[in-house]
Amino acid sequence: MKNNYPLSCVDCGTFSCHTGEKFPKFCVSKNLQQEVLDQAVECYNDEENHKTMLAAAKVEFEHYCKYTRVEEIVSFAKEMGFHKIGIATCGGLLKEAGTFAKILRLHGFDVYGVCCKAGMVKKEDLGIDPACNAVGENACNPIFQAKQLNHVGTELNVLVGLCVGHDSLFYKYSDALVTTLITKDRVLGHNPAAALYTAGGYYKNKLDSIE
Ligand code: SF4
Repeated sequence: MKNNYPLSCVDCGTFSCHTGEKFPKFCVSKNLQQEVLDQAVECYNDEENHKTMLAAAKVEFEHYCKYTRVEEIVSFAKEMGFHKIGIATCGGLLKEAGTFAKILRLHGFDVYGVCCKAGMVKKEDLGIDPACNAVGENACNPIFQAKQLNHVGTELNVLVGLCVGHDSLFYKYSDALVTTLITKDRVLGHNPAAALYTAGGYYKNKLDSIE
């Protein structure tokens, strides 16, 4: 299999950057360019980045293996001092998004959600192949979702099950920080990791057939 990059963390089984034991020859920590690392560390001096890192560290440390992701998001938003939460949701997960909104509201947050089909723009108006109308004529509109949440001034946006690629555009256009509550997987109950857990067994053929 061709790979034009050198071996990297995805080829490492040691996780020595955490445990400090045996580092592989290709270790990213040991082969990095110091200026790239320095530039990254410098970014944490930005006020918002610094605050985010402190809040994320506190949530991780205080609730490690105790809080669900829903609880972690509530806790993170409180640590950040946010009051206005946006939800960018898939239409197929509106019920779940509604439940999440109720939980957020019980915790005192102002919540505003935008469904992927809001705006009701036709796929044909975006130049999408008419064959795609077989799964619905209105396009998912992640840029509108982001812009609408930007418009109402949300401070943290939570992504609920946007499609692959649509999520990419949402991340690109959101003014506020984004965290993901649900990663869509229509086959695996929104647990994409299951395909990897079973990659050597039941899902072997499924992964072999990726085009
Ligand atoms: S930084 Fe080094 S030790 Fe850590 S995962 Fe990457 S290759 Fe492995």
